[in-house]
Amino acid sequence: MVEKTARILVIEDEPTIIEFLRTGLTYEGYTVLIASEGREGLLRAQRNEADLIILDLMLPDIDGNKVCRKLRLEGNKIPIIMLTAKTDIHDKVTGLDNGADDYITKPFSFEELIARIRALLRRTGHVSETILLEAADIILNTESMEVTKSGNPVHLTPKEFSLLELFMRHPKRVFTRETLLNRIFGYDFIGDTNTVDVHISHLRDKIRDKPPKLIRTVYGSGYALHCEQGK
Ligand code: CA
Repeated sequence: MVEKTARILVIEDEPTIIEFLRTGLTYEGYTVLIASEGREGLLRAQRNEADLIILDLMLPDIDGNKVCRKLRLEGNKIPIIMLTAKTDIHDKVTGLDNGADDYITKPFSFEELIARIRALLRRTGHVSETILLEAADIILNTESMEVTKSGNPVHLTPKEFSLLELFMRHPKRVFTRETLLNRIFGYDFIGDTNTVDVHISHLRDKIRDKPPKLIRTVYGSGYALHCEQGK
């Protein structure tokens, strides 16, 4: 996939979030560039080092809005996703006014963010990505967010959908409960890995996953999507 080569510039000063993004995005095959200050980020964007920017609003020197506005005034059309605080609706509006393409509120889950990244890269013509994912008799449409089993619609919650999408994008890969918790529920989710088991159990019920199961439990490790086609 062409998408895999996309370079993502993360302009953010919070170490926890930097690591969360670096790990997740690298895992997805993106090239990750980090700038922990606004000025540095701006400079790297101006040098066209990236294909997409994840831009935090609150930065130690110049804030995200200024970075965004400056780039747009210079005619730079790079896709920008703004990270904003959950509490401040005003921030979101200002971000979009300043030319951001999308925003996501903290705390966010990795799957929420990656869905927006994919959508933006697709919209800006940077990639042509597979929209339909298939495994056995299940088809998942990543754009309309519809799932069918043998042609019949399956109604999933957003978290169940994210889980299934993650498995279907990476057939046979074993995901630990910790990885799933991190990716689906976010970097500051308070809870234990039983949450993952509960969601997997609901997901299996909804897709009527009977032995030999599509979503396999890998004892002592986690879960993996088993797929005969061997992609
Ligand atoms: Ca910050």
